[in-house]
Amino acid sequence: MNAILQPGEIEAPKGDIPFIRLPERRDVFAQRARRFDELADGHALADYLRFMSKLARAQQVVLDGFPLVPLPTAEQLASSARYGLPPLDVQTWGRDWAWRAGLQEILALMEDELLVPRTVQAVENLVSAGATELEFTAEAVLAGAYSAVPPEALPFIAAALQVYWTYMAASLDGQAFARLEKPNLCPVCGSPPVASLVRIGGAEQGLRYLSCSLCSTQWHMVRIKCSNCKSTGDIGYYAQDGSNGAVKAEGCGSCNTYLKIMYMDKDAQVEPVADDLATLSLDLLMDDAGKARSGPNLFFHPGSV
Ligand SMILES: [Zn+2]
Ligand SMILES: [Zn+2]
Repeated sequence: MNAILQPGEIEAPKGDIPFIRLPERRDVFAQRARRFDELADGHALADYLRFMSKLARAQQVVLDGFPLVPLPTAEQLASSARYGLPPLDVQTWGRDWAWRAGLQEILALMEDELLVPRTVQAVENLVSAGATELEFTAEAVLAGAYSAVPPEALPFIAAALQVYWTYMAASLDGQAFARLEKPNLCPVCGSPPVASLVRIGGAEQGLRYLSCSLCSTQWHMVRIKCSNCKSTGDIGYYAQDGSNGAVKAEGCGSCNTYLKIMYMDKDAQVEPVADDLATLSLDLLMDDAGKARSGPNLFFHPGSV
């Protein structure tokens, strides 16, 4: 499939458009859980998607009761905005121990949902792991070094880190954020996007937002432009046979990568993390086309299985 619109045809409209959409603490993971359930019906990966729904529900429970943790000061926020840096940079932010407490809570909530012996063992290992080991594993996940993380442990570590960063991101309401030099890095935490979303409604009608793989922040980026290398010259769109067009892969011929793009006008309930995991066959299609993903889904990495 080819793009219908030409590069530059859709740019930011005049006037104020929201550059950043911070996550809604009240509902962000609950909404994802509902979407996983919806997608599970009749899906070849139904059991997996239902498991992910339960994990997202556990994330919401932990987020609802998350303790107060240190946040960037006003000076740090102003300085980040001035220098074009993410204030909650995954590479430099000193993680509070609360994320590890959140991990243990998630593991306890998921105890009855573990059906695979290997996962049971991985959870037992995480429950008994020391702080140093868990921080080492977190470091690897945040740096994208997934091969250093046991595949069965990855979803739980990722879930706990998401809750912690989402809690902090949601606390920064009303702050100013700079567009980073690399457009595919989250202006709040510096992580790559899981997918992009073409929104509907109000001032955001038809605008495309990249959705952070870690903190669930969404940030605006013009359409028909590669989020990885900024090229507008050779962008193509791919969909699975029989798809309703709500999820496509936006491929770039310049850097040979792709990222999924989801269209709320085709399905208002699309959710970047859930719809990404429900369309893994599109990743296989892109792999066959010789294109690599430009952003991760923290719950699943081809190299980790
Ligand atoms: Zn982020
Ligand atoms: Zn590119």
